[in-house]
Amino acid sequence: MECEYIKSNGKKCIAQTIKGDKFCFAHSSKPIIIEKRNNAKSLGGKNGRKQMLTPSKTIISLKNPNDTLTLLEQTINDVRQNKLAVNQANCIGYLCNIMSKIFEQQQVETRLAVLERVVLLERKKVNR
Ligand SMILES: [Zn+2]
Repeated sequence: MECEYIKSNGKKCIAQTIKGDKFCFAHSSKPIIIEKRNNAKSLGGKNGRKQMLTPSKTIISLKNPNDTLTLLEQTINDVRQNKLAVNQANCIGYLCNIMSKIFEQQQVETRLAVLERVVLLERKKVNR
């Protein structure tokens, strides 16, 4: 059955009624439902506040792949323990991905520099 509530815009509410009531969960005037509704709103508010990560006083250093790995590990644990909002975890994951690409590039450049030095030395030997 559909809720009989008429909204302020004159349209009828189309939500399903709750058992033993002619109104839906949002429009019921039964005290027990009102209490449940208020509790749900309060929980919703708490979930909303969880969107922000408690500001950390420590500044973490991410100078190498291991530091990034530690941050990822911590982030995964925070999400699993419901301490961190998924969108924040996604942001950290995204930034860690960028960092890991930078580390990869630095590693390639270091190896390339070594190879270039070796090639240069070999050329000098040949030209002697
Ligand atoms: Zn309704």
